[in-house]
Amino acid sequence: MAKVLICDSIAKTAVEEMRAAGAIVDVRDDITAEELAQVVGEYEAIVVRSRTKVRAPVLENPGNLKAIIRGGVGIDNIDAAVADSKGIKVLNTPAASSNAVAELALGMMFALARAIPYADASMKAGKWEKKTLKGTELAGKTLGVIGYGRIGQLLGEKARALGMLVVAYDPYAKHPDVIPLDELLAQADYVSLHLPHTEQTHHLLGKEAIAKMKRGALVIDAARGGVVDEEALYNALLEGQLAGAALDVFSEEPPQSELLHNLIALPQVVVMPHVGASTKEAQERIGGEVVKLVKEHLL
Ligand code: NAD
Repeated sequence: MAKVLICDSIAKTAVEEMRAAGAIVDVRDDITAEELAQVVGEYEAIVVRSRTKVRAPVLENPGNLKAIIRGGVGIDNIDAAVADSKGIKVLNTPAASSNAVAELALGMMFALARAIPYADASMKAGKWEKKTLKGTELAGKTLGVIGYGRIGQLLGEKARALGMLVVAYDPYAKHPDVIPLDELLAQADYVSLHLPHTEQTHHLLGKEAIAKMKRGALVIDAARGGVVDEEALYNALLEGQLAGAALDVFSEEPPQSELLHNLIALPQVVVMPHVGASTKEAQERIGGEVVKLVKEHLL
Protein backbone atom coordinates (compact mmCIF):
# COMPACT_ATOMS: atom_id res chain seq x y z
CA MET A 1 0.00 0.00 0.00
CA ALA A 2 1.31 3.44 -0.92
CA LYS A 3 2.31 5.67 1.99
CA VAL A 4 1.66 9.39 1.63
CA LEU A 5 2.89 12.15 3.95
CA ILE A 6 0.92 15.39 4.01
CA CYS A 7 3.40 18.13 5.01
CA ASP A 8 1.17 21.21 4.69
CA SER A 9 -2.51 21.49 5.46
CA ILE A 10 -4.87 20.41 2.69
CA ALA A 11 -8.64 19.86 2.65
CA LYS A 12 -9.69 17.13 5.15
CA THR A 13 -11.91 15.55 2.50
CA ALA A 14 -8.81 14.96 0.35
CA VAL A 15 -7.12 13.03 3.17
CA GLU A 16 -10.28 10.97 3.71
CA GLU A 17 -10.56 10.22 -0.02
CA MET A 18 -6.94 9.07 -0.23
CA ARG A 19 -7.47 6.74 2.74
CA ALA A 20 -10.71 5.43 1.23
CA ALA A 21 -8.80 4.71 -2.00
CA GLY A 22 -6.33 2.56 -0.06
CA ALA A 23 -3.40 4.86 0.73
CA ILE A 24 -1.81 5.06 4.18
CA VAL A 25 -1.84 8.77 4.89
CA ASP A 26 0.09 10.53 7.65
CA VAL A 27 -0.61 14.21 8.29
CA ARG A 28 2.24 16.24 9.80
CA ASP A 29 1.43 19.75 8.71
CA ASP A 30 3.99 21.32 11.05
CA ILE A 31 6.92 19.10 10.04
CA THR A 32 10.29 20.86 9.79
CA ALA A 33 12.73 20.37 6.90
CA GLU A 34 15.11 18.48 9.24
CA GLU A 35 12.34 16.12 10.41
CA LEU A 36 11.19 15.63 6.83
CA ALA A 37 14.70 14.68 5.70
CA GLN A 38 14.71 11.89 8.30
CA VAL A 39 11.34 10.33 7.41
CA VAL A 40 10.92 11.13 3.70
CA GLY A 41 12.27 7.76 2.54
CA GLU A 42 9.41 5.89 4.27
CA TYR A 43 6.87 7.44 1.89
CA GLU A 44 6.01 6.98 -1.79
CA ALA A 45 4.73 10.55 -1.98
CA ILE A 46 4.86 13.75 -0.01
CA VAL A 47 2.27 16.48 -0.44
CA VAL A 48 3.34 20.09 0.11
CA ARG A 49 1.80 23.53 -0.36
CA SER A 50 4.14 26.49 0.00
CA ARG A 51 5.27 26.25 3.65
CA THR A 52 7.45 23.16 3.22
CA LYS A 53 10.65 23.70 1.26
CA VAL A 54 11.88 20.56 -0.48
CA ARG A 55 15.53 21.43 -1.06
CA ALA A 56 18.51 19.13 -1.72
CA PRO A 57 19.13 18.13 1.96
CA VAL A 58 15.54 16.86 2.27
CA LEU A 59 16.10 14.62 -0.76
CA GLU A 60 19.51 13.24 0.31
CA ASN A 61 18.10 9.83 1.28
CA PRO A 62 14.87 9.59 -0.73
CA GLY A 63 14.30 5.86 -0.10
CA ASN A 64 10.87 4.93 -1.50
CA LEU A 65 9.95 8.44 -2.59
CA LYS A 66 8.44 8.50 -6.09
CA ALA A 67 6.57 11.79 -6.17
CA ILE A 68 6.49 15.24 -4.62
CA ILE A 69 3.01 16.66 -5.05
CA ARG A 70 2.65 20.43 -4.80
CA GLY A 71 -0.91 21.53 -4.11
CA GLY A 72 -0.77 24.76 -6.09
CA VAL A 73 0.84 26.27 -9.16
CA GLY A 74 4.45 27.42 -8.68
CA ILE A 75 7.01 24.77 -7.75
CA ASP A 76 9.62 27.28 -6.59
CA ASN A 77 9.66 25.69 -3.10
CA ILE A 78 10.88 22.39 -4.60
CA ASP A 79 14.33 21.69 -5.96
CA ALA A 80 12.96 20.08 -9.12
CA ALA A 81 16.40 19.46 -10.68
CA VAL A 82 17.56 17.42 -7.66
CA ALA A 83 14.24 15.52 -7.60
CA ASP A 84 14.57 14.79 -11.31
CA SER A 85 18.15 13.54 -10.92
CA LYS A 86 16.87 11.01 -8.35
CA GLY A 87 13.95 9.89 -10.52
CA ILE A 88 11.34 11.57 -8.31
CA LYS A 89 8.39 13.14 -10.13
CA VAL A 90 7.32 16.68 -9.23
CA LEU A 91 3.58 17.08 -9.78
CA ASN A 92 1.35 20.12 -9.22
CA THR A 93 -2.27 21.24 -9.53
CA PRO A 94 -1.87 24.12 -11.98
CA ALA A 95 -5.47 25.07 -12.73
CA ALA A 96 -7.10 24.59 -9.31
CA SER A 97 -6.41 28.09 -7.99
CA SER A 98 -6.73 30.14 -11.22
CA ASN A 99 -10.20 31.51 -10.56
CA ALA A 100 -9.38 32.45 -6.97
CA VAL A 101 -6.35 34.48 -8.06
CA ALA A 102 -8.17 36.12 -11.00
CA GLU A 103 -11.00 37.17 -8.67
CA LEU A 104 -8.53 38.56 -6.12
CA ALA A 105 -6.79 40.61 -8.83
CA LEU A 106 -10.17 42.00 -9.82
CA GLY A 107 -11.05 42.69 -6.20
CA MET A 108 -7.78 44.54 -5.75
CA MET A 109 -8.57 46.65 -8.81
CA PHE A 110 -11.90 47.67 -7.26
CA ALA A 111 -10.14 48.28 -3.94
CA LEU A 112 -7.75 50.71 -5.68
CA ALA A 113 -10.39 52.38 -7.86
CA ARG A 114 -12.62 53.23 -4.89
CA ALA A 115 -10.01 53.27 -2.08
CA ILE A 116 -12.15 50.72 -0.23
CA PRO A 117 -9.55 49.68 2.40
CA TYR A 118 -8.66 53.34 3.05
CA ALA A 119 -12.31 54.37 3.42
CA ASP A 120 -12.99 51.45 5.75
CA ALA A 121 -10.00 52.31 7.98
CA SER A 122 -10.97 55.98 7.96
CA MET A 123 -14.53 55.28 9.12
CA LYS A 124 -13.32 52.86 11.77
CA ALA A 125 -11.13 55.72 13.02
CA GLY A 126 -14.31 57.79 13.43
CA LYS A 127 -13.90 59.96 10.30
CA TRP A 128 -16.39 60.81 7.53
CA GLU A 129 -14.28 61.67 4.47
CA LYS A 130 -17.16 61.85 2.01
CA LYS A 131 -15.78 64.86 0.14
CA THR A 132 -12.26 63.54 -0.48
CA LEU A 133 -13.16 59.98 -1.39
CA LYS A 134 -13.83 60.39 -5.08
CA GLY A 135 -13.12 57.18 -6.97
CA THR A 136 -12.88 56.08 -10.59
CA GLU A 137 -14.69 53.36 -12.55
CA LEU A 138 -13.17 50.27 -14.15
CA ALA A 139 -15.52 50.36 -17.16
CA GLY A 140 -13.85 52.01 -20.13
CA LYS A 141 -10.34 51.66 -18.66
CA THR A 142 -7.58 49.62 -20.25
CA LEU A 143 -6.21 46.61 -18.42
CA GLY A 144 -2.75 45.41 -19.43
CA VAL A 145 -2.13 41.82 -18.39
CA ILE A 146 1.50 40.71 -18.29
CA GLY A 147 1.65 36.90 -18.50
CA TYR A 148 -1.33 35.63 -20.47
CA GLY A 149 -1.65 32.08 -19.21
CA ARG A 150 -4.40 30.50 -17.14
CA ILE A 151 -4.90 33.29 -14.59
CA GLY A 152 -4.10 36.18 -16.94
CA GLN A 153 -6.64 35.07 -19.56
CA LEU A 154 -9.31 34.39 -16.94
CA LEU A 155 -8.80 37.89 -15.54
CA GLY A 156 -8.98 39.26 -19.10
CA GLU A 157 -12.40 37.62 -19.63
CA LYS A 158 -13.74 38.96 -16.34
CA ALA A 159 -12.41 42.46 -16.99
CA ARG A 160 -13.98 42.52 -20.44
CA ALA A 161 -17.32 41.57 -18.93
CA LEU A 162 -17.02 44.72 -16.79
CA GLY A 163 -16.51 46.89 -19.85
CA MET A 164 -12.73 47.17 -19.67
CA LEU A 165 -10.47 47.05 -22.71
CA VAL A 166 -7.91 44.27 -22.40
CA VAL A 167 -4.42 44.01 -23.86
CA ALA A 168 -1.75 41.51 -22.90
CA TYR A 169 1.96 40.83 -23.14
CA ASP A 170 3.29 37.29 -23.23
CA PRO A 171 6.16 36.20 -25.49
CA TYR A 172 4.95 32.58 -25.46
CA ALA A 173 1.16 32.97 -25.81
CA LYS A 174 -0.57 33.11 -29.17
CA HIS A 175 -3.63 35.24 -28.55
CA PRO A 176 -5.18 38.20 -30.37
CA ASP A 177 -4.95 40.35 -27.20
CA VAL A 178 -1.15 40.08 -27.12
CA ILE A 179 0.80 43.23 -28.06
CA PRO A 180 4.43 44.33 -27.47
CA LEU A 181 5.31 45.18 -23.86
CA ASP A 182 6.09 48.84 -24.53
CA GLU A 183 2.70 49.33 -26.18
CA LEU A 184 0.94 47.68 -23.25
CA LEU A 185 2.80 49.90 -20.78
CA ALA A 186 1.88 53.02 -22.76
CA GLN A 187 -1.83 52.08 -23.04
CA ALA A 188 -2.77 50.49 -19.73
CA ASP A 189 -4.55 52.24 -16.86
CA TYR A 190 -4.11 49.06 -14.81
CA VAL A 191 -1.19 46.65 -15.21
CA SER A 192 -1.74 43.23 -13.64
CA LEU A 193 1.06 40.65 -13.43
CA HIS A 194 0.42 36.94 -13.95
CA LEU A 195 3.74 35.39 -14.90
CA PRO A 196 6.28 33.23 -13.05
CA HIS A 197 9.34 34.66 -11.31
CA THR A 198 12.40 33.49 -13.23
CA GLU A 199 15.82 34.93 -14.02
CA GLN A 200 14.22 36.45 -17.14
CA THR A 201 11.25 37.99 -15.36
CA HIS A 202 13.17 39.26 -12.30
CA HIS A 203 12.36 42.98 -11.91
CA LEU A 204 10.51 42.93 -15.25
CA LEU A 205 8.46 45.79 -13.87
CA GLY A 206 11.32 48.04 -12.78
CA LYS A 207 12.31 51.70 -13.09
CA GLU A 208 12.57 51.64 -16.88
CA ALA A 209 9.25 49.87 -17.49
CA ILE A 210 7.41 52.01 -14.93
CA ALA A 211 8.69 55.16 -16.67
CA LYS A 212 6.99 53.92 -19.86
CA MET A 213 3.62 53.58 -18.12
CA LYS A 214 0.85 56.18 -18.24
CA ARG A 215 1.23 58.74 -15.46
CA GLY A 216 -1.20 57.80 -12.70
CA ALA A 217 -1.52 54.14 -13.73
CA LEU A 218 -2.02 51.39 -11.16
CA VAL A 219 -0.20 48.09 -10.63
CA ILE A 220 -1.60 44.78 -9.37
CA ASP A 221 0.72 41.93 -8.45
CA ALA A 222 -0.69 38.57 -7.40
CA ALA A 223 2.01 36.56 -9.22
CA ARG A 224 5.31 36.16 -7.38
CA GLY A 225 7.61 38.44 -5.40
CA GLY A 226 10.62 39.59 -7.42
CA VAL A 227 8.82 40.29 -10.70
CA VAL A 228 8.18 43.85 -9.54
CA ASP A 229 11.19 45.90 -8.40
CA GLU A 230 9.72 47.08 -5.10
CA GLU A 231 12.18 49.96 -4.72
CA ALA A 232 11.28 51.31 -8.16
CA LEU A 233 7.59 50.83 -7.33
CA TYR A 234 7.96 52.71 -4.04
CA ASN A 235 9.75 55.62 -5.71
CA ALA A 236 7.18 55.80 -8.53
CA LEU A 237 4.35 55.92 -5.98
CA LEU A 238 6.04 58.69 -3.98
CA GLU A 239 6.72 60.66 -7.12
CA GLY A 240 3.17 60.24 -8.50
CA GLN A 241 4.16 58.35 -11.66
CA LEU A 242 1.96 55.56 -10.29
CA ALA A 243 -1.29 56.35 -8.48
CA GLY A 244 -1.48 53.09 -6.54
CA ALA A 245 -0.54 49.46 -6.26
CA ALA A 246 -2.13 46.31 -4.89
CA LEU A 247 0.19 43.51 -3.84
CA ASP A 248 -0.47 39.93 -2.75
CA VAL A 249 3.16 38.83 -3.10
CA PHE A 250 6.50 40.22 -1.93
CA SER A 251 10.20 39.60 -2.45
CA GLU A 252 10.32 38.71 1.24
CA GLU A 253 7.39 36.91 2.89
CA PRO A 254 6.51 37.97 5.50
CA PRO A 255 8.02 41.38 4.67
CA GLN A 256 10.84 42.42 7.03
CA SER A 257 12.86 45.13 5.29
CA GLU A 258 12.42 48.85 5.92
CA LEU A 259 11.66 49.36 2.23
CA LEU A 260 8.77 46.88 2.31
CA HIS A 261 7.41 48.33 5.55
CA ASN A 262 7.47 51.82 4.00
CA LEU A 263 5.86 50.55 0.78
CA ILE A 264 3.08 48.73 2.66
CA ALA A 265 2.42 51.80 4.83
CA LEU A 266 1.60 54.06 1.85
CA PRO A 267 -2.12 54.91 1.78
CA GLN A 268 -2.34 54.27 -1.97
CA VAL A 269 -1.03 50.70 -1.51
CA VAL A 270 -3.37 47.77 -0.82
CA VAL A 271 -1.78 44.59 0.52
CA MET A 272 -2.73 40.98 1.17
CA PRO A 273 -0.52 38.28 2.80
CA HIS A 274 -0.13 35.99 -0.27
CA VAL A 275 -3.67 34.65 -0.16
CA GLY A 276 -4.44 34.59 -3.90
CA ALA A 277 -5.30 30.89 -3.85
CA SER A 278 -6.87 30.91 -0.39
CA THR A 279 -10.55 30.43 -1.09
CA LYS A 280 -12.67 27.57 0.19
CA GLU A 281 -13.42 26.52 -3.38
CA ALA A 282 -9.79 26.62 -4.56
CA GLN A 283 -8.66 24.64 -1.51
CA GLU A 284 -11.29 21.99 -2.27
CA ARG A 285 -10.24 21.89 -5.95
CA ILE A 286 -6.57 21.62 -4.92
CA GLY A 287 -7.45 18.75 -2.54
CA GLY A 288 -9.42 16.99 -5.30
CA GLU A 289 -6.53 17.34 -7.76
CA VAL A 290 -4.02 16.03 -5.20
CA VAL A 291 -6.20 12.94 -4.68
CA LYS A 292 -6.38 12.45 -8.46
CA LEU A 293 -2.58 12.66 -8.73
CA VAL A 294 -2.08 10.15 -5.90
CA LYS A 295 -4.53 7.74 -7.55
CA GLU A 296 -2.99 8.18 -11.02
CA HIS A 297 0.65 7.90 -10.02
CA LEU A 298 0.75 5.74 -6.89
CA LEU A 299 -2.29 3.52 -6.41
P1 NAD B 1 0.57 30.00 -16.46
O1 NAD B 1 1.80 29.18 -16.64
O2 NAD B 1 -0.72 29.46 -16.95
O3 NAD B 1 0.78 31.45 -17.09
C1 NAD B 1 1.96 32.18 -16.95
C2 NAD B 1 2.20 32.89 -18.26
O4 NAD B 1 3.36 33.73 -18.10
C3 NAD B 1 2.50 31.93 -19.42
O5 NAD B 1 1.55 32.12 -20.46
C4 NAD B 1 3.91 32.31 -19.85
O6 NAD B 1 4.08 32.24 -21.26
C5 NAD B 1 3.99 33.74 -19.37
N1 NAD B 1 5.35 34.24 -19.29
C6 NAD B 1 6.50 33.57 -19.02
N2 NAD B 1 7.56 34.40 -19.13
C7 NAD B 1 7.07 35.61 -19.46
C8 NAD B 1 7.65 36.88 -19.71
N3 NAD B 1 8.97 37.04 -19.64
N4 NAD B 1 6.84 37.91 -20.01
C9 NAD B 1 5.50 37.76 -20.08
N5 NAD B 1 4.89 36.58 -19.88
C10 NAD B 1 5.66 35.52 -19.56
O7 NAD B 1 0.50 30.30 -14.88
P2 NAD B 1 -0.77 30.78 -14.05
O8 NAD B 1 -1.42 29.59 -13.44
O9 NAD B 1 -1.56 31.72 -14.85
O10 NAD B 1 -0.01 31.56 -12.86
C11 NAD B 1 0.56 32.84 -13.08
C12 NAD B 1 1.34 33.29 -11.86
O11 NAD B 1 0.48 33.39 -10.72
C13 NAD B 1 2.48 32.34 -11.44
O12 NAD B 1 3.62 33.11 -11.06
C14 NAD B 1 1.96 31.69 -10.21
O13 NAD B 1 3.01 31.28 -9.36
C15 NAD B 1 1.15 32.82 -9.59
N6 NAD B 1 0.16 32.39 -8.62
C16 NAD B 1 0.00 33.15 -7.51
C17 NAD B 1 -0.92 32.76 -6.55
C18 NAD B 1 -1.14 33.60 -5.32
O14 NAD B 1 -1.45 33.06 -4.27
N7 NAD B 1 -1.01 34.90 -5.41
C19 NAD B 1 -1.66 31.58 -6.71
C20 NAD B 1 -1.50 30.85 -7.88
C21 NAD B 1 -0.58 31.26 -8.84
